[in-house]
Amino acid sequence: MDQIVMLWEFQQADIEADALETEIKRSPNRLALKKNRDFLLEQQNTVKEMEEQVAEMLDRVDIIKDAIALQEEQLKTLQARLSETPPETLEDARAFTQDAHKLVGNIQDYEQEMKRIQQDANDHERQQKEIVVKFAKVKAEYEKQKVEYEDEYKEQMKALEEKRRIAQEKGKDIDAALMERYQTIKKHCIPPVARLVNGQCGGCFMGLPQVTLRNLKTGAKIIECESCGRMIIPL
Ligand SMILES: [Zn+2]
Repeated sequence: MDQIVMLWEFQQADIEADALETEIKRSPNRLALKKNRDFLLEQQNTVKEMEEQVAEMLDRVDIIKDAIALQEEQLKTLQARLSETPPETLEDARAFTQDAHKLVGNIQDYEQEMKRIQQDANDHERQQKEIVVKFAKVKAEYEKQKVEYEDEYKEQMKALEEKRRIAQEKGKDIDAALMERYQTIKKHCIPPVARLVNGQCGGCFMGLPQVTLRNLKTGAKIIECESCGRMIIPL
């Protein structure tokens, strides 16, 4: 069979196989499955982030506890000093009071922060619980979808393999160089081969220069469209 005819028939089979592959990728069941899978992954990441945040909170709580203990110790020392050697001047008494107030103020600040952290931790816990419930629901749905889609997918892949096999069969006797050219053009132009239609490229419908058309008449079997780069065949 003529190389050009083989190429044309191969292209039709090749494009058909590609179309089926695209259709498989866009299958509603596949997209629904992907949507749920993405959701599950996102929730897993959220939970992981929250766990990290809670770990940071716990670290902070430890630091605050130590800080409070230190302030309380200092306050005790101050009180002990106060009872051992009561201030003799009003100024000394004021200084003592100021120091004590500062320590008490610090302790109160730390306790406030602890409360806020506790509140945050509670919020996190609540959110995590909500996620766990939703996650389980979506996961169950996802597993069900997966089983259902598996059969559909197997069928689709079988059909695709058959189409690929047909294309391969049609392309098996095409010159390697011609096939390579086809694959190269296909990377930026689909379909890569076009017919000559009224002196125009059947792919982009640009008119071809007379000299190119003459080449075709005088024996060149394949010419290239200067506009889109397709191979043009006189079929
Ligand atoms: Zn063209």
